[in-house]
Amino acid sequence: MLKKVLLYLLFISVLSACNHTENTNLSPLQKLEEGNKRFVSGKPMHPDETLERLRELKAGQHPFAVVVSCSDSRVPAELVFDQGLGDIFSIRTAGNVIGDYELGSIEYAVEHLDCKLIVVMGHKGCGAIKAFIDSKGNYNHEDHIKKIVEYIESEKEENELVKEDKLSIDNAVNANVQHGVEFLKKAEPILKESYHQKKITIIGAVYDIENGKVTFDSEIKK
Ligand SMILES: [Zn+2]
Repeated sequence: MLKKVLLYLLFISVLSACNHTENTNLSPLQKLEEGNKRFVSGKPMHPDETLERLRELKAGQHPFAVVVSCSDSRVPAELVFDQGLGDIFSIRTAGNVIGDYELGSIEYAVEHLDCKLIVVMGHKGCGAIKAFIDSKGNYNHEDHIKKIVEYIESEKEENELVKEDKLSIDNAVNANVQHGVEFLKKAEPILKESYHQKKITIIGAVYDIENGKVTFDSEIKK
């Protein structure tokens, strides 16, 4: 009986090792998609989370993707995409807005860490987007949240929604993601050139905080 159990455990561990090998052949986007499927199914692998993995990375990091997402506590890229240490270069601000510090961080990941994929990921029910909608162009507090709301207000994509009377939280979240993607594609000097030389891919995504699913660019309704 014990022998049978040991054989079964050996079989399972070989299977999981095979799966792991298979995953390394996936493209960066496929890795994120597959990881999100595991997260949504409630069966995450929690890869690369050990101290041993951290020690392996001592000589240097090689994250396969940059994910620009919201600081919202329900939106950690590593959990949403079932990744671990050294996998994702993560940029997070409320409303996933991108200023100079964030842009410099992304440039570093592309230029020095050789990241080939940048994902700008908004999420449903985003508080920063709600603040923009609720303020109706008149945020009456002298704080730094104002800077975030004004940034979102200034986006061409958001203004088009207002003009077309299509302003809703879902539409504004999508518009904000599209703004981030377009902004990065045109960001000089590093990203614009890398994008046009097809060295990097920049795509948008929206994460649903109710079911955990991430929907990538082409599927996002405008
Ligand atoms: Zn948010």
